[in-house]
Amino acid sequence: MPSDFIPLSEPRVAGREWEYVKECLDTGWVSSVGSFVDRFEREVAARVDAAHAVACASGTAALHMALHALGIGPGDEVVVPAITFIASANSVRYVGAYPVFVDTEPRYLQLDLGSVESFLVEGCERRESGLHNRATGRRVRAIMPVHVLGHPSDMAAITEIAGRHGLDVVEDATEALGSTLRGRPVGAMGRVGCFSFNGNKILTTGSGGMVVTNDAPLAARIRHLTTQAKRDAVEFVHDEVGWNYRLSNVSAAIGVAQLEMLDDAIARKREIARRYAEGLHDLDGLGLPIVAPWASSNRWLYAVRTRGADSRELMKRLRGVGIESRPIWQPLHRSPAHVDAFAWRVTQADEIHRELLCLPSSSGLNEQDQARVIAAVRAVIRA
Ligand SMILES: *Cc1c(COP(=O)(O)O)cnc(C)c1O
Repeated sequence: MPSDFIPLSEPRVAGREWEYVKECLDTGWVSSVGSFVDRFEREVAARVDAAHAVACASGTAALHMALHALGIGPGDEVVVPAITFIASANSVRYVGAYPVFVDTEPRYLQLDLGSVESFLVEGCERRESGLHNRATGRRVRAIMPVHVLGHPSDMAAITEIAGRHGLDVVEDATEALGSTLRGRPVGAMGRVGCFSFNGNKILTTGSGGMVVTNDAPLAARIRHLTTQAKRDAVEFVHDEVGWNYRLSNVSAAIGVAQLEMLDDAIARKREIARRYAEGLHDLDGLGLPIVAPWASSNRWLYAVRTRGADSRELMKRLRGVGIESRPIWQPLHRSPAHVDAFAWRVTQADEIHRELLCLPSSSGLNEQDQARVIAAVRAVIRA
């Protein structure tokens, strides 16, 4: 990699990570039990106003456990936005259920609530056993809003819709640690929510995740499931088939240090977003992201829209000058991995997919490098 290459999103290790990891190594507490795991869980829970938090090996594992603990399984369906990282939908398949892909709205790139409502009203029918998808016959059990790129989905509206139809809400907050909705942190606004601490997220533990909830029995069940459903640690009695999904103490140590720097990371991301807006707002050919008046975003990734043009051209030109950028994920109703899933009138996702491009957004991105990105984007869009 040339030294002047600007990556899309790099982790920033600038706090007490070394010190805390050394403490794990010095004391021998390196595995899935240890004081940093407990502390990380307590501190994340406090940060997002959740009563309970259970650390997991990844965000995907967290989603899997949340769905499983709610009893969602074969014959069931979960509403998932067409535009999200594939892990949201994969976790639904892990429990034997199917995702139903619903459209993404182009304003904030979140689950289109009009489409959710029309699916639940027109696409479903109420039977004795619950709400069923007319097309597949499967029972719809939950809505999984995803706070895409860190911008919150409107949880008040989603909870209201879910409540009216008797559905659970599983919040995929993996990209949105630190984002708020009408002043309240996202994550524990639905029945259960999940965070990811993968290397590209705003807080990283290398790999890791967390389930958060205000439901004590649900939290206890998830903790049990992530530790091989072990009932008796001495006699090794397991009361069902569980998983080895716990986070290691070493990873949690990194997480505790990263959490101390979270406000700093968010402030940096917001400053990056401000500078992009300032440097690009006058370009007619480019659409810039906006934040809803009722939301505050952690600005995890900054994505622009090449209005009416394919964003891949801009991506290639940026790559030519050593700048990494990336389109948004393939809409999941197009994914070969999910051909068996049902999609409800998805009409906006393809255009978003064609036009959206994520620009370098590392919290460590310095002003000089960002000026280079802005100048390069300006040159391409103007040409
Ligand atoms: C990162 C991410 C996940 C999965 O998290 P991992 O820790 O990588 O398993 C799930 N959903 C979305 C939307 C994500 O961005």
